Amino acid sequence: MIPFLDLQSINKQYRAELIEACTRVIDSGWYIGGKELEQFEHKFANYCGTQFAIGVANGLDALILTLNAWKELGKLKDGDEVIVPSNTYIASILAITANNLTPVLVEPDNQTYNIDPIKIEEAITSKTKVILPVHLYGQLAQMPEIMEIADKYNLLVLEDSAQSHGAEIDGKKAGNWGDASGFSFYPGKNLGALGDAGAVTTNDQELAQMLYALRNYGSHEKYKNLVPGMNSRLDDIQAAMLDIKLNFLDREVNHRREIANLYLTQIKNPEIILPLSNVDATQYHQHVWHLFVIRSKNRIALQKYLADHGVQTLIHYPLPPHKQQAYKEWNNLSYPISEQIHEEVISLPISPTLSLKEAEKVIQLCNGFKV
Ligand SMILES: *Cc1c(COP(=O)(O)O)cnc(C)c1O
Repeated sequence: MIPFLDLQSINKQYRAELIEACTRVIDSGWYIGGKELEQFEHKFANYCGTQFAIGVANGLDALILTLNAWKELGKLKDGDEVIVPSNTYIASILAITANNLTPVLVEPDNQTYNIDPIKIEEAITSKTKVILPVHLYGQLAQMPEIMEIADKYNLLVLEDSAQSHGAEIDGKKAGNWGDASGFSFYPGKNLGALGDAGAVTTNDQELAQMLYALRNYGSHEKYKNLVPGMNSRLDDIQAAMLDIKLNFLDREVNHRREIANLYLTQIKNPEIILPLSNVDATQYHQHVWHLFVIRSKNRIALQKYLADHGVQTLIHYPLPPHKQQAYKEWNNLSYPISEQIHEEVISLPISPTLSLKEAEKVIQLCNGFKV
């Protein structure tokens, strides 16, 4: 069986170093808010090109706390509107509603699957305060255009970079485009911890200071609480694991790119729509291929055929947020591009430990699929 993503084999590559780091933390007697966290925060900020990286408990909290921080800083208030893609993973939307802000769903471009800047501008009202672009599947949203719109209408921009560590446009990385960015280090992400972890990156010192407090009960100073915060910390063991894995991120991304390139050039089947098929690739290079998402009108048959021949695939995602029971009030709304994407997408295996031979097998099978 060719697995979709084999975390065991990915982390096994770094086993000796991970164990050494674990031992160091165990023996240090300092497990939260210590040197390991500080070192990783510094290194990750440096990697993204930002001034600050603030470690938090997970990617959802990174988004929740940033919006919360802007409320505490007086930049947002209950009911303000946040523009977000209608085909995102549910977490981007949960972060908005958790803060009593109003999500305004905007359709993606059906070639890139990222939010369509033209439709962002159409959705802006007097209540719009934030654009929350999601760099879906590992490819940056059209950030130059989005930042221009944000400047024109004086809006904050919060990137959801959970799937796009290291992705860039014109040499500028995910996490360094907006006013702030949320990252997830969930084990299956391109930079994955051995448990839950996340971070916010920003160049805004005032925001960074507020986030340091919010992740730690709203406290800057022990037993003094400035704001009602929460407990959302990135612990030192996970920080130490991430510090090691960050050393190998670019190498792993290059391997993903090699696989993606094989898929893009060698899968030839009219039943299958490849990513970026009609997009000017020079505009969208530096994709980090968190997921390799193809589309087919016969997705169910394709998935079964691949499984029968030993290839595991997943669907990202089967149901758009507006069709989820959690958001019943939106169930009757219509976002046709999102709905079509959700009906047709299927993700092929792509990972740092998928061999080229395995990729060849996936390609041959895809090319042999008939309805
Ligand atoms: C994974 C993910 C998140 C949430 O990250 P967690 O660490 O699982 O909380 C948010 N947004 C997107 C787009 C994601 O893929």
